[in-house]
Amino acid sequence: MRIILMGPPGAGKGTQARRLSESTGMKHLSTGDLLRAEVTAGSELGLLAKGFMDRGEYVPDSHIISMIHKSIADPAGVLLDGFPRTVVQAESLDESLENAGLGIDKVVHFAVDTDELVNRLSSRAVCSDCQTPYNLVSDAPSKEGVCDKCGGLVIVREDDKPEAIKTRMCVYEEQTAPVLDYYRSRGEVSEIIATGTPDSVFEKLSQAIGSGV
Ligand SMILES: [Zn+2]
Repeated sequence: MRIILMGPPGAGKGTQARRLSESTGMKHLSTGDLLRAEVTAGSELGLLAKGFMDRGEYVPDSHIISMIHKSIADPAGVLLDGFPRTVVQAESLDESLENAGLGIDKVVHFAVDTDELVNRLSSRAVCSDCQTPYNLVSDAPSKEGVCDKCGGLVIVREDDKPEAIKTRMCVYEEQTAPVLDYYRSRGEVSEIIATGTPDSVFEKLSQAIGSGV
């Protein structure tokens, strides 16, 4: 089985993918993890990729694609997380699957309510000294703005502020809408509403792929 998981940053897709991989034995292919592994291994691809990442740039499609192609035919099945991100990547993926006599079984789209996502992410805070994470709603430091562990300043990261989250969501939607349409036109997309507890999202995900795990 080859499944593509799509969803905006913060939708919990990575966590769910790891869990599904553990319960089914399918290989979790996260482009972020794969890139880091290539960099650590010091491979030719890793060295090339590192140059782009060090400059804060996206690693080009061709590098990502050749990395994914190495693992796509894994007999245990594959969960693609964070790929394809563009229609060019989706077409290239189809081509390499076709060459291997394989296909995509399902595309699961994690749909989230923007307001809900903003509420959830913007309650995240962290100690600027010891990096202890806090949640300003459910797990706030006992003295406002002061870390319980080290007395450091507890801050909300720029990335977690509502405006930054909304911008990320817009960029994500602009980028991925054409990819979703690409798969929708072939009737391969299952939508799940990715709100609620991680357990309830996992249940919806399992139902969507029909694994009954
Ligand atoms: Zn601290």
